[in-house]
Amino acid sequence: MNKIKVGVLGATGMVGQQYISLLAQHPWFEVAYVAASPASAGKTYRDAVAGRWQMVQDVPPGVAGLVVQDANNPALADNHCVFVFSALDMDKQAARELEDAYAARGIPVVSNASAHRGTDDVPMLIPEINHEHINVIAAQRSKRGWQKGFIAVKPNCSLQSYMTPVFALLQAGYEIRKMIITTMQAVSGAGYPGVPSLDMIDNIVPFIGGEEEKSEVEPHKILGRIAEGRIVNDESIKISAHCNRVPVVDGHTACVSLEFGDKKPSLDEIKRIWHDFKSLPQQLQLPFAPTQPIIYREESNRPQPRKDRDADKGMAVSIGRLRQCNVFDIRFVGLSHNTVRGAAGGGILNAELLKAKGYFD
Ligand code: NAP
Repeated sequence: MNKIKVGVLGATGMVGQQYISLLAQHPWFEVAYVAASPASAGKTYRDAVAGRWQMVQDVPPGVAGLVVQDANNPALADNHCVFVFSALDMDKQAARELEDAYAARGIPVVSNASAHRGTDDVPMLIPEINHEHINVIAAQRSKRGWQKGFIAVKPNCSLQSYMTPVFALLQAGYEIRKMIITTMQAVSGAGYPGVPSLDMIDNIVPFIGGEEEKSEVEPHKILGRIAEGRIVNDESIKISAHCNRVPVVDGHTACVSLEFGDKKPSLDEIKRIWHDFKSLPQQLQLPFAPTQPIIYREESNRPQPRKDRDADKGMAVSIGRLRQCNVFDIRFVGLSHNTVRGAAGGGILNAELLKAKGYFD
């Protein structure tokens, strides 16, 4: 099969590097175009990331010699790629306009940026949860007069650590009324160079700008439904979030407490639901789909970022410490790899779903 040529916008950053690394062996996609800020434009990719390459593997040979283009000029991508992954870190309004400009040229955008997460005709996908939200793309295209282009986004990285287990319980018929989340988020979540080392070593920073707001709003869109060409949020779960930056390189951990409706599952029933949970990405056998989307760890001291973040290619959510809660009903700890499942790997899974459903034909 001929691979689909893809571009990576923001290819030099933390998430962009993860895309380049994860796509090196991808069976369907091949990186043919890389773009970043004007400061990197004109350099070979190898030179542009020299001194700041954060991946364990070297720069893939197929990408090292590509010349980085200015991401602010979408015309440069014409005829070089079928769609782009966007891992740009820039002003929200500027990012929104830029992603629109790519889509308007007929280049679909699969984005990690927050710019379009609140746009009601843009699907915000965790494919195991809301794969059917891709159906809103038809309305998005028709409203904007786009034929081939469209925008699909990923939610905030820390949500991946608990939203799939929460969804599995909802899908099994258990109402959830309240959720309190306390996240412990890795430094790679702040991009490169990110938080200064003197603020981070021997320390915890109890504030990540905008993160608590995203954690309290984005789940409502993920759990929403399509009506009249837009996604209508489901706000039935009341959410309160505390977000902390901790001195961990990769892997966002979340401590979660849930209050159910009148019907309350036992702890054994919850473990069974999580164990049995599979969804469309598993049925379609998408290359980046984890075989077991939710891995329950019985050990009393798991999950841990260093030991569990790479579970199933870094795409599975690891859960542990399920127990009764004295204030709500249950509590547990969830963990996922923020730059893989929470960013580039999640973006690739979104693109695989879109490809499987014919959106790049
Ligand atoms: P990063 O390491 O700071 O990388 C930012 C990228 O954007 C670089 O390639 C940079 O190019 C490019 N860029 C910055 N300003 C630009 C401009 N004015 N015009 C064009 N390109 C510009 O950030 P990151 O952590 O990779 O995050 C990228 C995006 O993913 C952000 O929107 C972030 O919110 C989102 N995200 C991150 C994570 C995570 O775990 N890190 C998870 C989920 C989502 P230069 O190298 O040339 O400056």
